Amino acid sequence: MNILVTGANRGLGLALVKQGIEQGHFMIASVRSPHSKLKEIKKVIDSHPEQVKMLILDVTDEHSTKEAKKEVDKWGIKLDSIVNSAGVLISREKELEQLNFDEGMATFEINTFGPVRVMKHFLPLLNKEGSSVINISSDAGSVENTYSGDYFYGMSKAALNMFSEKLRIGFPHLKVLSIHPGWMKTDMGGIEAEFNPDEVAAEILKSIKGKKAVDPNHTFYDFKGHKLNF
Ligand code: NDP
Repeated sequence: MNILVTGANRGLGLALVKQGIEQGHFMIASVRSPHSKLKEIKKVIDSHPEQVKMLILDVTDEHSTKEAKKEVDKWGIKLDSIVNSAGVLISREKELEQLNFDEGMATFEINTFGPVRVMKHFLPLLNKEGSSVINISSDAGSVENTYSGDYFYGMSKAALNMFSEKLRIGFPHLKVLSIHPGWMKTDMGGIEAEFNPDEVAAEILKSIKGKKAVDPNHTFYDFKGHKLNF
């Protein structure tokens, strides 16, 4: 399969590229900028040049997203799946009085509008029946997770979940999922976290390959395949 992953230079995105290569897929590793930390992903590309290509794609920038799509067109590659993994947790505000709206806007630009921008431009590349869109969400965007704080992060993921539903209804040829990847050992999750991103990535690839049962009328699951409530 041909799989595009955003935010592929570190964290879950990088793990998805590595696991995807191991499973024999062709991976497009999209990264925000040539100035991002690229050492690890470049190592992966150097050791598997025939199985992975790097693409510059800043999900907050429509011009960058458009140019990235044109680049994939030049390569003559169609996609089987897009995994929108790029995301940020900009601040851990606990109190309403602490909210900073610039941080709120930035959070929505990346976590919510980012996947929308990517899909706006890349949708034509997903023209096969059963192609998939995996939006990496969070249980912070679920009503089941009712802790206080992380206002903008939780809201941005709840809105992302709504986008998945819109895609599911609007494009019946696609399999669309919002997946909560669990608390992972990444820059975002920290070293104390519960899960290794490699094990999470392997489970997400099973969903892409259709190896997990999903209710066709529901999009929000954790990475193990349990249904989550919006
Ligand atoms: P990391 O902080 O490790 O990595 C974030 C990635 O997003 C980086 O590759 C970063 O690139 C990229 N990114 C940020 N902004 C942009 C942008 N504008 N355009 C393109 N890429 C961008 O995060 P994780 O890997 O931990 O998180 C992956 C996903 O999982 C996120 O959506 C997150 O919300 C979600 N999640 C994570 C949890 C966890 O415990 N870690 C828990 C629940 C959900 P750069 O290096 O250039 O900044």
